[in-house]
Amino acid sequence: MDDLIERAARDLAGAKNVAALTGAGISVESNIPPFRGKGGLWEKVDPMEYAHIEAFRRDPGKVWEVLIKGMKDVIDQARPNAAHLGLARLEKLKRLQTIITQNVDGLHQMAGSSDVIEFHGSFAWQCCTRCERRVPTRKLDLDRIPPLCRCGGVLRPECVFFGEMIAPEHLARSQRIASQCEIMLVIGTSATVSPASYIPLISKESGAKVIEINPEPTALTGSVSDYLIAGKAGETTSQIVAQLERLI
Ligand code: NAD
Ligand code: ZN
Repeated sequence: MDDLIERAARDLAGAKNVAALTGAGISVESNIPPFRGKGGLWEKVDPMEYAHIEAFRRDPGKVWEVLIKGMKDVIDQARPNAAHLGLARLEKLKRLQTIITQNVDGLHQMAGSSDVIEFHGSFAWQCCTRCERRVPTRKLDLDRIPPLCRCGGVLRPECVFFGEMIAPEHLARSQRIASQCEIMLVIGTSATVSPASYIPLISKESGAKVIEINPEPTALTGSVSDYLIAGKAGETTSQIVAQLERLI
């Protein structure tokens, strides 16, 4: 593993155009559980079922009660961990330009990264399903579930539910970045949710090096990724950054 950390630091030291794709795993050390992995809240229910737009349309109150309220509590408490901070440091060192994140927790921005594509939207805002009104999530009144807009419409997070389209501008920009980067860092994602899962593939096919950080092998390991650094996002990223700073 030390060899791979050294290798990643050397690869980054020699690169000018680097992008990252992050998933739920990068926020696990900030105490936000992933959907599929082990841990707390999501083991009791099937979030895949509740995270589908049809489930929300059928019974928004139930989805708010079972999934969204819990997400709010968890995200409210969360702070960036060493992996988010490490990526922000890589940007300062000019060894990372853009982060494409599947996460909705806002932790990359909180850590100081300035170019973050929120591929699956953001939990920071709620929007009305009837009018155009938007409400910051921290100002929500959750005495009533589901929370309502002034107009009486149900509020929903500005996140992409399963069954919904990715914002076309996010998709187009992510595909362009994936096809132009020299290195794609893939951190904490199982690469099973499409179309995000195609991003590393686009990079690979365009000639980039794909480096994975994940304690478990993924759908990319051994085929799309050049190598997997099998560790937790926080300590692995900070070790790579420390080694890189020695090299440059
Ligand atoms: P996922 O399928 O990408 O799985 C999580 C991955 O993280 C797994 O491969 C797991 O091995 C890895 N992982 C676990 N602990 C890790 C650690 N400490 N360091 C690095 N990697 C680690 O993600 P999912 O949970 O199935 O989520 C599905 C969708 O919902 C995605 O779009 C996801 O981003 C979103 N989601 C977002 C958040 C968030 O905003 N923080 C939380 C849950 C789900
Ligand atoms: Zn409204």
